[in-house]
Amino acid sequence: MGFNTFLLGIFGSLLVQIGSSCYSSLMTGADQALRAMLQDGIAAGTFRAGAKLPTERELVEMLAASRPSVRKALSQLEREGLITRQVGRGTFLTSTMSPDAVPVDSSPATIMQARLVFEPSIASTAALTATAVDLETLERYLNEGGKSADFESFESWDAKLHRAIAVATQNDLLIRMFDVMNAARDLPVWGLRKRQTSTPERRRQYHHEHEQILKALQDRDPEGAEHAMRVHLRQVGDALSGGA
Ligand SMILES: [Zn+2]
Repeated sequence: MGFNTFLLGIFGSLLVQIGSSCYSSLMTGADQALRAMLQDGIAAGTFRAGAKLPTERELVEMLAASRPSVRKALSQLEREGLITRQVGRGTFLTSTMSPDAVPVDSSPATIMQARLVFEPSIASTAALTATAVDLETLERYLNEGGKSADFESFESWDAKLHRAIAVATQNDLLIRMFDVMNAARDLPVWGLRKRQTSTPERRRQYHHEHEQILKALQDRDPEGAEHAMRVHLRQVGDALSGGA
């Protein structure tokens, strides 16, 4: 059974529940209905980080909501970083809503160690597998990150960019593994440390490093991508452990 078939199964069962109008938007609005639907799927363990959401048209039917209200609800969830929308691919649940087990005492150093083991290889793989659409998405996230004037905005585009590189591997298992690791970024300790050490200069430096990563992906250069990612993550790690 493929991953998508698996997900269709999940939404098939959700549709059954919708038959009993569990998620009807008539009572609560599309935003609340959509949240309830996602949270129930997550709580039941049937809907995890990286899972693909139904299409906008399907959600209109499932939630008995208007198209503009579904669109607005999705935009809101995207702004909150709970879902990510990828042109030509669909909408995906990000790690934030996932209960996937991350040791709650993971320190920034532990997280960076895991990222350094994992993400350079992801970048190397993505250099060979990224589609034109992936590269467009990465460029958009990179540019948005570059335009970010504050910590929250930059951090949000940074998380999207790193995840999109994992998505560009086209490997659902790697994407799932990435999401488990990436969920650690939702730990309060990570956000606090990042915020304490974030400066406009540092963000400019990270943006430059992101440009190097993207360039290597565009050049189909696995070694270059791996190297650029390693350099970037070392900088992030140094900043997190060094200056407060
Ligand atoms: Zn980054």
